[in-house]
Amino acid sequence: MGIISPTERLLACADPSEPVESGVLTVDLSALVANWRKLASMAGAAECGAVIKADGYGLGQAAALRALAGAGCRTFFVANLIEGEAARALAPDATIYVLDGVAPGCAPRLAAAGLRPAIGSFAELEEWAAAGVTLGRKLEAALHFDTGMNRLGFAPQDAGVIALRVQAIAPTLVMSHFVSAQLPTSPINDRQIGDFLAVRAHFPGVQASLANTSGVFLPQRPHFDLVRPGYGLYGGNPTPGAENPMKPVARLCGRIISARDLAAGETVGYDGIWAAPRPSRIATVGVGYADGLPVAATATPGKPAGEAIVGGARCPFVGRVSMDYVVLDVTDAPEEAARRGEWVELLGETIKVEELAARAGTIGYEVLTRLGRRFARRYVG
Ligand SMILES: *Cc1c(COP(=O)(O)O)cnc(C)c1O
Repeated sequence: MGIISPTERLLACADPSEPVESGVLTVDLSALVANWRKLASMAGAAECGAVIKADGYGLGQAAALRALAGAGCRTFFVANLIEGEAARALAPDATIYVLDGVAPGCAPRLAAAGLRPAIGSFAELEEWAAAGVTLGRKLEAALHFDTGMNRLGFAPQDAGVIALRVQAIAPTLVMSHFVSAQLPTSPINDRQIGDFLAVRAHFPGVQASLANTSGVFLPQRPHFDLVRPGYGLYGGNPTPGAENPMKPVARLCGRIISARDLAAGETVGYDGIWAAPRPSRIATVGVGYADGLPVAATATPGKPAGEAIVGGARCPFVGRVSMDYVVLDVTDAPEEAARRGEWVELLGETIKVEELAARAGTIGYEVLTRLGRRFARRYVG
């Protein structure tokens, strides 16, 4: 781990303009673009799109879209109409797919925004075709087939029937979604690829897409015509168990707002669930569960607590994470880094998204998308 100098610490976390907030989320847009380029090169001849749903995985849809469109990304995926309208306002010429499909009654608004729903049922197909009749043209859409998620999409057996009925719209993409792409040895990957090949044979000339980020890394290279990475763009590890091939994008730092000494036996926080095993120094950081730091990142028997980096030292959360604060045991941290006003890393180069997630019994996707709205956000790069 090593001790870093105060200057490095300043560059790493604090901001020269001294934010008034007690937390700063830094989003490195050049790392985001580098991740997209890496995935695009791995996908070879296939086009590389970008999934920007859930406010760009919690890091900011608008900033992510602008950066990726600037780098040459032409196809974006959002979850719903509202996200799609926001994306359209920023990217008049982009192709934007809406993964929810046609929500009841929403076809006219989807069409008005030039969005392409991922249609996964006959009811949606009818509503989309009807909206096209009203507008006097066939509307573009993706056809979503369900090869195992049992969540959204047509049954693969219906591909033949759909190929006939689809004349009422203008399909531009045939897609499906992996169940376990992060597990390269899972037999379900081959099964899904096989079913998807059979489906796409019914739609000659239409682009095909199966891979999320982890799918891009599968040995079968199921890239088809278009890949749809999300998590990896934002720095998440698409290859769990192996080293993360993506660059970290999000860095969350919190400011120490109080530091004090405890006698052995004194407790910290609600219900006093942690008692100092020795005379201890503790620091209170102004980032809590309202900012997205999971309460579950508290130590339990068999699971260590979350940690923060204080002057290069790993310092565990002690007591329960509360709404606005997390308390750290900084007894072993360099004293000058553990004072009021100093900044500590809660997520970033050292504390990976997956690490915090594991300490909270969840997944990195959830940690990112739950990052709060209260701290300062800085977009760099
Ligand atoms: C969220 C999502 C993706 C992106 O998946 P990642 O694992 O984040 O890369 C791709 N396709 C569909 C249908 C999705 O819902």
